[in-house]
Amino acid sequence: MEHYDYLIVGSGLYGATFAYKAKRLGKKVLVIDKRQHLGGNVYCEKIEGINVHKYGAHIFHTNNKMVWDFVNSIVEFNRYTNSPIANFKGELYNLPFNMNTFNRMWPDVHTPAEAQAKIEEQKADAEAAIGGREPQNLEEQAMCLVGKDIFTKLIKEYTEKQWGRDCKDLPAFIIKRLPVRMIFDNNYFNDSYQGIPIGGYNKLIEGLLEGVDCITGCDFFSSKCSPTGEKMNESWRMIADNLVYTGAIDEYFNYSLGKLDWRTVSFRTRVEDTSNYQGNAVVNYTSREVPYTRVIEHKHFEMFGQKVYESPKTVVSEEYSTEYEEGMEPYYPVNDERNNSLAEKYRKLANNEKNVIFGGRLGMYKYYDMSPIIEQVLNLNID
Ligand SMILES: Cc1cc2nc3c(=O)[nH]c(=O)nc-3n(C[C@H](O)[C@H](O)[C@H](O)COP(=O)(O)OP(=O)(O)OC[C@H]3O[C@@H](n4cnc5c(N)ncnc54)[C@H](O)[C@@H]3O)c2cc1C
Repeated sequence: MEHYDYLIVGSGLYGATFAYKAKRLGKKVLVIDKRQHLGGNVYCEKIEGINVHKYGAHIFHTNNKMVWDFVNSIVEFNRYTNSPIANFKGELYNLPFNMNTFNRMWPDVHTPAEAQAKIEEQKADAEAAIGGREPQNLEEQAMCLVGKDIFTKLIKEYTEKQWGRDCKDLPAFIIKRLPVRMIFDNNYFNDSYQGIPIGGYNKLIEGLLEGVDCITGCDFFSSKCSPTGEKMNESWRMIADNLVYTGAIDEYFNYSLGKLDWRTVSFRTRVEDTSNYQGNAVVNYTSREVPYTRVIEHKHFEMFGQKVYESPKTVVSEEYSTEYEEGMEPYYPVNDERNNSLAEKYRKLANNEKNVIFGGRLGMYKYYDMSPIIEQVLNLNID
């Protein structure tokens, strides 16, 4: 067994970017991942020639030119622009809330002034209904921010499906702002740059990990692939001088302070016998009568115009908000008092670990988009 400068646990964007940077600095690195593939949550599976985002739709967006130039130096990105559609009982609305949405919601609204007046009128009604006091729950909060019509058709039941609770039972702070755009602009993100790697995210990961030693199907907490026969977490210092750990922070410390909670999503993916199923990558279902929250049609991330029709089939995934249970994929940290304070305690323990860098969404117990993950690694001093 060779000796490495860095053992990197996890081949997601954090681990893969770290490996790329360390290798360029002349370091010897070994990446292990417990999954059977590299790439973490951006990994795509090819079905019917279409890159299917196996762990949920991933759209790269950033305002950071350094990050954008970096990812484009590994693989060129396409011009995909996220512009989701909301389907409320068959009525289709553009998102985010903009002049197209308002005209569809209120056909007599044609100008920004008319839209603003309509929203202000409904906000005033909502404020009057609670007697001018502070909103006490998410329903009151959202009604005071955008009024009854937008709340009822585009927010209420979608949010209830996401959280599994009535909006009246959810805290107001979950929705701090609900931006409305008084222009005809369906581009979801405000960032300067967005897109999908041409050829899919696996190309990005392959580029980052080119020439790097990688082992898949290898769990850091198991002895199965450990060269010493002991559990790798106990013997990693025999393999490498330093550790980069992007697995779950509570698992690293053997849950000694308690387990952190997660929220998750489950996916039902199927092939449809048509070239174009819904005409858009992302359609949100905002009424309760449909059990899933979104349908993703993966080909639209990478195929535009006539290209859509070149393949006779398409792949769609329904997304269901699901309570997390042991064995499921941990997707989103739970931002409540218990979990925030527990995570902080684990992060303090992590700070005292010698020659170990904790990183990524599992290692920090924080939700990060892809761009900040890459930015963090690019800004690290690796010696
Ligand atoms: C459903 C969903 C949708 C998202 N959509 C977007 C989006 O549209 N745009 C955006 O910018 N960001 C999005 N994100 C965020 C994005 O996924 C993260 O920024 C990114 O995946 C973080 O990379 P990471 O390396 O920290 O984690 P991960 O990609 O999760 O990688 C961690 C890796 O560590 C491995 N691992 C864990 N424990 C062990 C162990 N014990 N031994 C060995 N290996 C281990 C895992 O198998 C995994 O491969 C989304 C996230 C989710 C959950």
